[in-house]
Amino acid sequence: MTINNHLMKTYAPLDITFKHGEGVYLWDTENKKYLDALCGIAVCGLGHAHPAITKTITAQAGKLLHTSNLYQIEQQQHLADQLCEISGMSRVFFSNSGAEANEAAIKIARLYGHKKNIDNPGIIVMENSFHGRTMATLSATGNRKVQAGFEPLVQGFIRAPYNNIDAIKNIAENNNNIVAILVEPVQGEGGINIPDADYLNQLRDICDRHDWLLMLDEIQTGMGRTGEWFAFQHNKIQPDVMTLAKALGNGVPIGACLASDKAGDVLQPGNHGSTFGGNPLMCATASAVIDTIKTENLITNAKQSGQYLLAAFTEKLGALDGVRKIRALGLMIGIELEPDLVKHDCSELVKMALNKQLLINVTAGNVIRLLPPLIINQQQADTIINTVSDLVTASLQNKAAA
Ligand SMILES: *Cc1c(COP(=O)(O)O)cnc(C)c1O
Repeated sequence: MTINNHLMKTYAPLDITFKHGEGVYLWDTENKKYLDALCGIAVCGLGHAHPAITKTITAQAGKLLHTSNLYQIEQQQHLADQLCEISGMSRVFFSNSGAEANEAAIKIARLYGHKKNIDNPGIIVMENSFHGRTMATLSATGNRKVQAGFEPLVQGFIRAPYNNIDAIKNIAENNNNIVAILVEPVQGEGGINIPDADYLNQLRDICDRHDWLLMLDEIQTGMGRTGEWFAFQHNKIQPDVMTLAKALGNGVPIGACLASDKAGDVLQPGNHGSTFGGNPLMCATASAVIDTIKTENLITNAKQSGQYLLAAFTEKLGALDGVRKIRALGLMIGIELEPDLVKHDCSELVKMALNKQLLINVTAGNVIRLLPPLIINQQQADTIINTVSDLVTASLQNKAAA
């Protein structure tokens, strides 16, 4: 292993390097082939080296990479049109990452509050949420590990338990400075936590009643992953603000903050900006991502493959004592383990899967997280099902013997 002492120690990467990819597969430096059931943490929804994306990037790079937002950018306007068409939103601000998309949302909420003469605007955020690593977004995040050591945190966030409507009503009764709710439709980093079917509808109602903005962090759930373009579309509601990143560029860095009529005109010239944000390369790429998801019918595939994986995992693992819960919405799949019944630390499963040439993730300490690409076929789904089921079964059986 090469230890590069010039990198900050922000990450603790596994001892493996990938050289190239194609579709759902990656090849390491020894030319060993791996099935990627994580796709760079829900980023490469179209898999690796998708020809339509490669072609778009190559063509755009040969024409123009960047001009800045001092000038009109055709590719940005076109992408905004596409995003508004598939989401029902009205306006878009482009950033370079998820955290920055959420920063834009937080700034919209605060300015929205100030415009209503609320001097100390508060945003309701959830326990076990994840919104990013910038100062404001880590303050909004509901995980002490993300915040510890970075105090003083950004103020103005009021914490509520996830999937608990009474808690929100209680906050509404006791605070007159709330301006928005920021929430993930499904918590990703928090452990693939799927709220009750009418949770978002109820949040929508409360926001309407109090004139708050409903702001959905769809950075992980968006772009078809849950079996709809956006997870809120399962609920037939419309948010006031929605943030995207991850799968939007299939690996080219891009984020977006979308707003409805209610919130779309809050930011005015001089209020916000980004040098790279919405440059021709990232926007052309994201447009090609949307076109490809449509032409290849990948949202339907995500929905059907997700149902297939959930049914198979439930059948194979659902009755085991060591498996607490199996959750899925489309291709966001979580298998929550009972850590006391697992022989080793749950995170060891990542390395064990790697030895079986499968890329998976463990989040929130004890939840196996699968985020396979939207292009996955049944045979590849079967490989994931069999490999993960065998590993989990073995990890639980070995406990008694150990
Ligand atoms: C990944 C993620 C973020 C942060 O995105 P970055 O691009 O890493 O800044 C924010 N919210 C959710 C729900 C995420 O999954």
